[in-house]
Order: sequence, then C-alpha cells, then structure tokens
Amino acid sequence: TELSKMILDKIRDVPDYPKPGVLFKDITPLLADPVTMAAVVDELAGLHQVDKIVGIEARGFILAAPVAYRAAAGFVPVRKKGKLPAETLEESYDLEYGSATIEVHRDAFAPGDRVLIVDDVLATGGTAKATVDLVQRAGARVVAIAVLMELGFLKGRDRVEGVELHSLVIV
Ligand code: 5GP
Repeated sequence: TELSKMILDKIRDVPDYPKPGVLFKDITPLLADPVTMAAVVDELAGLHQVDKIVGIEARGFILAAPVAYRAAAGFVPVRKKGKLPAETLEESYDLEYGSATIEVHRDAFAPGDRVLIVDDVLATGGTAKATVDLVQRAGARVVAIAVLMELGFLKGRDRVEGVELHSLVIV
C-alpha cells in the first residue's frame, strides 16, 4: 500500500547494531518526517475503538502517545523494571542472552478496559507477549497489538497467537 511504501522509505537499516550480525531498523527518519508520522498516527488511531493505548518503552512511547491523543484514549506506559513509581505488576521473558522484566502500574486500567498495545518493531515477539500478559493480569482486555514493522523471519507473530496483530509493514 501507499502507507507501507512511505514507511519503508523512512526506516533506515543500520548494520551491526546493537551487536555484530544484527540489522537494526532505525525509525528516527520516520519520526523526523511530519507527513509520514501523521499518516502512521492516523492509521493506528483508526484501527479500533479503545479506552487505553499501551506504549512499550521506549520507542513505543513516541508512537503510542500521539495515537492516544488522536483516538481520544488514555495512554498507559509499560516500562522496564524499576522505572514506575507506584505499585506494579511485572512479567519476565527470555532474551537471546538472559532475560528482561517489564512492569505496568497495578491500577493503570479500569476493569474491562479495551486496550491497543503499540510498539515500533515486532521482532521475536517476546516483549509483545509479555505486555499482553501484563495488561490481562491488570484486568483489561487486549483488543489488538499494532506495530510499525514486523520482522517476519523471526516469527514473532506465532508468539502472540490468538491476539489480533496489525503490522503496517512486514519485512
Ligand atoms: P522482541 O521482544 O519482539 O524480540 O523485540 C521487540 C522490542 O525490541 C521492541 O520493543 C522494539 O522496540 C525492539 N527492537 C528489536 N529489534 C528492533 C529493530 O530492529 N529496530 C527497532 N527500532 N527496535 C527493535
């Protein structure tokens, strides 16, 4: 589609970041382009009627906050462990080396809130899956996950099976 072409044009491949052998998808050119950014935000905001937009630290915040504004929904941050000040729920998941823990405030949602989870890139799907579990444990309903870009070869989609997944671009 026209939008996926615009997005692809504004994402830069950076080889060997953060470590040798990884081809990192850098979204900063997209963030710096107001036309593409507005088209992305409008698209994401129009996907579903929801009460809350969850953004995943840190690049997910940059997308999720304007989407929440545009959708007249609330914004809820999911953060790396130790960053949220009040009582939290936490979820750990495996990385290639070691593990990661993310958190959400225990009182971030009203019971039954409809939630859209937003992030920049779906890679292995570990982060998205942990976020789905957190949101559900906090008493809300995950309507869908939406990402700018899905790295199809990593099969992250399989990890979040059963949850609607919108990828504006699949590479
Ligand atoms: P996953 O848990 O799916 O393996 O990794 C997804 C998380 O790592 C997302 O929060 C995303 O921001 C980050 N990530 C992994 N690979 C990339 C990449 O190539 N580009 C960007 N921008 N983020 C990535």
